[in-house]
Amino acid sequence: MQMNKIISQKIAAGERISTEEGLWLYRSASLAQLMEWAQTVRRRINGNKVFFNKNVHIEPTNICSNRCLFCSYRRAQNEEGSWALSLDEIAAIAQKYKHSDITEVHIVGGVHPHWGFEVYKNMVAEVHKILPQVHIKAFTAEELWKMHESSNLPLADVLQQLKALGLQSIPGGGAEVLQDAVRAKICPEKINSAAWLQVHQTAHNLGLSSNATMLYGHVESYEDRMVHLGLLRDLQDHTRGFNAFIPLKYRKLHNDLSAVGEVSTAEDCRNMAVCRLFLDNIPHLKAYWPMFGKSLVDNMLHYGADDLDGTIDAGTQIYSMAGAEDTKPTMTVQELQAICRRNRFELTERDSLYKTVKKE
Ligand code: SF4
Repeated sequence: MQMNKIISQKIAAGERISTEEGLWLYRSASLAQLMEWAQTVRRRINGNKVFFNKNVHIEPTNICSNRCLFCSYRRAQNEEGSWALSLDEIAAIAQKYKHSDITEVHIVGGVHPHWGFEVYKNMVAEVHKILPQVHIKAFTAEELWKMHESSNLPLADVLQQLKALGLQSIPGGGAEVLQDAVRAKICPEKINSAAWLQVHQTAHNLGLSSNATMLYGHVESYEDRMVHLGLLRDLQDHTRGFNAFIPLKYRKLHNDLSAVGEVSTAEDCRNMAVCRLFLDNIPHLKAYWPMFGKSLVDNMLHYGADDLDGTIDAGTQIYSMAGAEDTKPTMTVQELQAICRRNRFELTERDSLYKTVKKE
C-alpha cells in the first residue's frame, strides 16, 4: 500500500505513526495533506479550542556561562547589554501584578556563573510570597542541572526543595535537539540529551508537570528531529508529565549560526503538522507567537497548534534579540480574540495545567 494511504488510515483510526512514517511526512507529504491530517488530530484532541493564559515572564539574568551558538540573548558578565536582577528587583516585578488577573509567572534566564542554589530558591520563595495564587513555572533543565551540580544535592532534592517553596511546573527550554551529535555543534557546553530527559523525568515523578521544546531549522536533519520526537514520546508514555510541546524556530540575527539562515514559513507549517501527528500522547502544541511573530501565528493554528502561549506583557527578550518582529512582545486578549475569530477557532483562557479559567 502507498505510504499516504497507510498514514491516512492510521490517522482516521487514531493509531500511532512510526518513525519511518514521520520521516516520510517530513520529506514527501504535501502541505495540503499535512494540514488536513493535522486538523483531524487537533480536533480529536482539542476540538475547536485555542488556549492562552494570562502570564508574565521574568528573566532574572542574561549572563550565562554557556555559549550556545544559536543564542542572541546571552552576555558575559559586565558586557554591554547584560543584566542580573536582584531579589528586590524581581520582587518589584511581582508586586506590579499583585492586583492583576495573571495566572502564571514564567521564570527562565541564563546560567549565571556565580549564582548558587540559594539564589534560585529565594527567587521562587519571594515570587510565591507576593503572588501566592499564581502558578510558578520556572527554570529550564539547564538551570536546574547547574543547581544540582553546584549544590551537590541529588536532582530530586533540588526539585523537591523548589516545589516546597512554590514551584509548580517547569518549562520546556534547553531541549534544542535531543541528539548529542547536534548538541556538540550548536550548544557544546549544555547538558546532554540524557540529562535533559532525566530532569524532566525526575520532575514528572515528583508531580511537577513540564513542557518540551525543539529548536529546529539550523544544522539538524529530519532524522535528528525524529530522534528528538521519539525520545519525548517514549518518556511521555512512561510519565504522562508533558502538557505541551513547543517547536521553536531558529532565528538568525546576532548569533554565531547566522550563516545557516532561517527556514521558510512552509517549513514551519510542515514541522508543526508532523509534530502534531507524531506526538500522539502530548495533548497540546504551542505556537509561541514571540518567535513566529504575530503576523505568522495564524498559519500554525491550521497545522495542528492549539495554544498561543499567553499575554507575556513584554517580559521576554529571548526572541526579540534574535530578530523576531516584536521587540517588546505583548499580546492583548483582544488581539488573541481577533486571531481566533478570523481563523474560526474558539479562544479559551486556561491556567498553567490547561484547566479552563472560569469567568466571574
Ligand atoms: S541558550 Fe541559554 S544556556 Fe545557551 S547561551 Fe543562551 S542563555 Fe546560555
